[in-house]
Amino acid sequence: MARSLFVTFALGMPDIIQLLPDSIANQIAAGEVVQRPSSAVKELMENAIDAGATSIKLIVKDAGKALLQVIDNGQGMSETDARMSLERHATSKIRTADDLFRLRTMGFRGEALASIAAVSQMEMKTRLANEELGTLLVVEGSEAKKQELTACEKGTSISIKNLFYNIPARRNFLKSNGVEMSHITEEFQRIALANPAISFSLIQEDELVLDLPSSKLSQRIVNLFGKNYQSQLAPVQEETSLLKITGYIGRPELAKRKRGEQFIFVNNRFIRNNYLGYAVTSAYEGLLQENHFPFYAMFVEIDPKHVDVNVHPTKTEIKFDDERSVYGVVWSAVKQALGSHNLAPAIDFNADVNLMNKVSTQPLSRDQYYDEQFSSLNRSNLQNWNKLYEQESGTSRLFEKTELKTTVRLESAVNKPNEVSTESEKGIFQLQQRYIVRASRNGVLFIDQQAAHERVLFEKYLLQLKGVAGNSQQSLFPQTLTMNAADFALTLEMEREIQALGFKFEVFGKNTLLISGTPTDVHGSEKELFEGLIEQFKKNQSELQLPIKENLAQALAKRASIKTGQKLSPEEMEGIAGTLFACNTPNFTADGRPTFFTLDSSKIENYFTR
Ligand code: ADP
Ligand code: MG
Repeated sequence: MARSLFVTFALGMPDIIQLLPDSIANQIAAGEVVQRPSSAVKELMENAIDAGATSIKLIVKDAGKALLQVIDNGQGMSETDARMSLERHATSKIRTADDLFRLRTMGFRGEALASIAAVSQMEMKTRLANEELGTLLVVEGSEAKKQELTACEKGTSISIKNLFYNIPARRNFLKSNGVEMSHITEEFQRIALANPAISFSLIQEDELVLDLPSSKLSQRIVNLFGKNYQSQLAPVQEETSLLKITGYIGRPELAKRKRGEQFIFVNNRFIRNNYLGYAVTSAYEGLLQENHFPFYAMFVEIDPKHVDVNVHPTKTEIKFDDERSVYGVVWSAVKQALGSHNLAPAIDFNADVNLMNKVSTQPLSRDQYYDEQFSSLNRSNLQNWNKLYEQESGTSRLFEKTELKTTVRLESAVNKPNEVSTESEKGIFQLQQRYIVRASRNGVLFIDQQAAHERVLFEKYLLQLKGVAGNSQQSLFPQTLTMNAADFALTLEMEREIQALGFKFEVFGKNTLLISGTPTDVHGSEKELFEGLIEQFKKNQSELQLPIKENLAQALAKRASIKTGQKLSPEEMEGIAGTLFACNTPNFTADGRPTFFTLDSSKIENYFTR
């Protein structure tokens, strides 16, 4: 029945479907690829990079409405390729669908030049290095107007005149020159940031407004954003089996009220990804004023097979197959960078003589310094930490040992404690058997005793896991522990790490362990400790994305730490405070809880001002 109906219809109607002429198809595609002058800038500059240019020049007139020109010294094109490059779906960058999963170039869709040529008056000059003459092409609204041999520089120069001249609706839709130019600058910045080895210049209304020589990334950032960034950057560096992260983040003080200096690149491609942006800002948690956005330029390198960049024609939105893991690594990389460069307000702490030492690397390197500190911690318990703390914070012994090549600000900070601290200011007390409270140089410091101790133990255990073997106490009566098969397998998988923490055990029958030793400074029965560790490890696994070692260190730190509700002596409080501020990342526990905050004297003053 249905079939015969269909036949009648088909018979009664003339054929009406036709393929669109290329010029119209290209115009339609252009709607997606070229939204405004800045989109053309992006496409042309990315092509120059794909062509291996070491120098790229951008010329702009009337915010790109009159002229956009990109000149590169890349590989150039042959005469045929020059013609071909303007066809839709014409690309030299991929050949097969599989290539999509191995992308290393910026372009691959083969539609940018065709789209731009459909909506502008384009002039292309291009020459291969080994040819004497190059090719000149003039195209208007997809229509070839001129093609001839020409003398020109090696590389490619493409100028786009009167963008959208043939689509008045589009042209009228463009914003003011100020707005369009800021979009162009944005694209230029992103590309210049991602390629510091390439030299760039930007010429606006015949004036050279940016001239960026080939340099290192840090220098490129300074050249782009200003001299004051020089001392305000901390390097980010993290590598896992999945990905590698490099780049720089800005000190919290560098954060601005306006967004605009947040850059994440994936395989050198600038991307928009709120989720990853959130990973970065949440790592700053507690360090930023409200509504302030930190500077960051981070580069994620990941096997292209884990990424889909083909989501949108402009290619700024991408998909990761394992977004949560990427999030975790980004978060911890930023945390690490913030902590290890003392960008945190910990520098206000009265006893930050300790931190001063960490800033200077002479003659002990940072690592040596921590090794020394933590290996003595290994041998000791809370009692001995006090001594360590007294030694290192109270006296000048370490200062003699350490050359202080620091700024005026640091030096004055070092001198201050002795000058201004009276005995009463040094007072320390416990609040609600939960917080350690003491005066600091700038106000009052509140430390969460449990969180702080967890941070201290976490870093200590992590060091053990990374090589410094943990101390174990022999059990008088080794205990057996039977587990379910999954936990048993997990335990064996991490056997080496768990032993490094100070546990001693061997397999003792099916799904059963014989535990004969536990870490020295942790209290509890062998069985209870071991089960607790595995339990916490699994909990961490589902809630945090920590690498195995970090997870184990955090799990044991949680078990072994001083808890809320425990009464502490002044020495114990000093011990916790001192060791906390000797940590790499004193501000947070490994699972992201804050460990302390300071109540600034200015805030206190506010309470008393009418
Ligand atoms: P895609 O970059 O996606 O391949 P485009 O339309 O941007 O598509 O460019 C088409 C082709 O033109 C490129 O694959 C490349 O071979 C060539 N091409 C474009 N711009 C340049 C340039 N500046 N230098 C050399 N070749 C270029
Ligand atoms: Mg391209």
